Amino acid sequence: MKKVPISLIIDDGSPFCDITEFCDIIKAYGVKGKYSVIPMPSCKGDIINGVEGIPEEQLRGWIEKVKTDIMPVFDICPEILTHSNAYDIETGGFFEQDEKHWVDAQTRETLTPYIALAIKLLHKAELTPTGVTSPWDAGIGCEEEYGYAIAGAFDRVLGVKKSWYFLHTNSTNLGNEPKVVIRDGDRIVISVSSTVRDYFWQTMECEESSDEYVNSIADLYITADGKSGQIIEEIKIGSPIVMLTHVQSLDSCGRRTGMKAFRLVCERIDKYLKDKVEWIDFTALIKDLN
Ligand SMILES: [Zn+2]
Repeated sequence: MKKVPISLIIDDGSPFCDITEFCDIIKAYGVKGKYSVIPMPSCKGDIINGVEGIPEEQLRGWIEKVKTDIMPVFDICPEILTHSNAYDIETGGFFEQDEKHWVDAQTRETLTPYIALAIKLLHKAELTPTGVTSPWDAGIGCEEEYGYAIAGAFDRVLGVKKSWYFLHTNSTNLGNEPKVVIRDGDRIVISVSSTVRDYFWQTMECEESSDEYVNSIADLYITADGKSGQIIEEIKIGSPIVMLTHVQSLDSCGRRTGMKAFRLVCERIDKYLKDKVEWIDFTALIKDLN
């Protein structure tokens, strides 16, 4: 039987997060997917010229670790520019509006240079992206313009004709396969949705840190006997499984209960599903779409 592709989305990555343990887990269990890097995190500078509150050496070390430990197995993408107030390309200042509200009111003319800047910053850091992630659900109000802007930005900066975006979150893989949404001359853009909710997210709101609690979170994905959970349900449907989580969901406000549950999920997938699923990155996920 053909293995079901499984991919992991990590959102909100920035030099403000420690990726050591995450890197250990993905290496141990062969996890693949896509990883967001916010190029101008929280409007505090950028990953090329320096980020306020992060010593230069730490910033370089973080970029290097993303490059050597994550990038070989995860596609990298900007989560547009700031994941905070929108950046004013003309003045170098910031708008009152956050990126979600700003993006939703734009056209491809204004979005293309904005997205191009995000791609440029990552490329300059040698974290060359292959797609874009929406901060919140930015772009939902102007999805076609947003898609054309992504196509134009990748072509303009990298000469790349095929790219993708992650904007839509779903809670099933039934009917939610990656699909081509923009065809613009020889350019195509693919929309990739998540198919599994971020159950690790709730660890931020719960102070409980017992093994039972951690187990109960992992069980939502795959139980300790490997027989039930959302991943088991999605294997039965058979189309690609796209898990979603966020760096803060794994950090759990410093308690790291999300990271423990994530480790358990990876361990269980490895133990029970080796013959049924295959971890792949986003490039492999969209390989056959053209
Ligand atoms: Zn985000």
